[in-house]
Amino acid sequence: MKTKTLKKNKVNVVTLGCSKNIFDSEVLMSQLKANQFDVEHESMEDDAEIVIINTCGFIDNAKQESIDTIIRYAEAKAEGLVSKVYVTGCLSERYKDYFKIAEGCDRPCSFCAIPIMRGKHVSTPIDELVNSAKSLAAKGVKELMLIAQDLTYYGLDIYKKRNLAELVDKLSEVEGIEWIRLHYAFPAGFPMDVLDVMSTKSNVCNYLDMPLQHGSTKILQAMRRGITREKTEELVNEIRAKVPNIALRTTLIAGYPGETEEDFQEMYEFVEKMRFDRLGIFSYSHEDNTHAYNFEDDVPANVKKERADKIMELQAGISYELNQLKVGKQFKVLFDRVEGDYFIGRTEFDSPEVDNEVLVLKSEGYLRIGDFATIEITSADHYDLYGKIVS
Ligand code: SF4
Repeated sequence: MKTKTLKKNKVNVVTLGCSKNIFDSEVLMSQLKANQFDVEHESMEDDAEIVIINTCGFIDNAKQESIDTIIRYAEAKAEGLVSKVYVTGCLSERYKDYFKIAEGCDRPCSFCAIPIMRGKHVSTPIDELVNSAKSLAAKGVKELMLIAQDLTYYGLDIYKKRNLAELVDKLSEVEGIEWIRLHYAFPAGFPMDVLDVMSTKSNVCNYLDMPLQHGSTKILQAMRRGITREKTEELVNEIRAKVPNIALRTTLIAGYPGETEEDFQEMYEFVEKMRFDRLGIFSYSHEDNTHAYNFEDDVPANVKKERADKIMELQAGISYELNQLKVGKQFKVLFDRVEGDYFIGRTEFDSPEVDNEVLVLKSEGYLRIGDFATIEITSADHYDLYGKIVS
């Protein structure tokens, strides 16, 4: 490996594409300077510790130039000539979109400040969302992540009924959208008819992100989640019965006020039993103006962390076992980026940044960022799958 003395805190900003990108880079550079970074623009010296590539992805030539530049700096990083490479701008945004279908939340969850900050739930009408999806598809977006604080509530305010299924069905008809995935469904009252759309429409990913928060009825009630442990289990089983290969992602909280060792054990057993495909856990954070703020934040920080770590350790084992079942199977994979020796992508069961990734060696062949390919999984670890190109 080559080595070179990199100037610490020196940032090289590389701009590709249109004048909007040049403007964005200028804003970025002045912010970096204000934060005491030593900034240079498009230096070929490779003496900066950090490289930020502001990409363009809307015209084919610019797209190719962006990809070549990313590969050039990824290689410089592998050789030790640069220590960090960040990719920002249109190309990094092009193939997926942060597609918000509603704002705010009407739920009373005791630990959460979002309803106070964002106000009541307001759904965006279906027609408006379908039009936005069409214009995104025309720009090359292939994946829509349907985001709301509470997808379950979608439609109740404007249509007086839960209308997520109809929305997803109409979005699935938009030409060019190859993946639609659902993020943040509240468990109580979840509209099961959306699962019929998921099973029948091939471009609706068999993926559901449903934060469940805890596995003890006592704590769920204290959290004002409107559901018990038993009902949660029934719901998860019903979802799995309707869409057998669904990837369920959930999020939990460790150390809610009053959480005893026994309550934690219940959550542990819940995770062990339900075997979620993806799971994240946070330590409880005592937020001003929430209902839970009235109670004592009585679980010490180190205990919250220990409990969260134990759950993550358990989940790592579950994830490893589930990943081993994928070895030898073929999946459609969307490639997001190039890093070191690998092209990196995801299956329909994985959301960007939080879930598993599929790694294919660059020496395997050429894969275009933003394109799909069929990959056979050859090996797997806890959170990553390794594969070879089939087509
Ligand atoms: S946790 Fe989610 S559902 Fe509950 S109040 Fe907060 S945003 Fe709403």
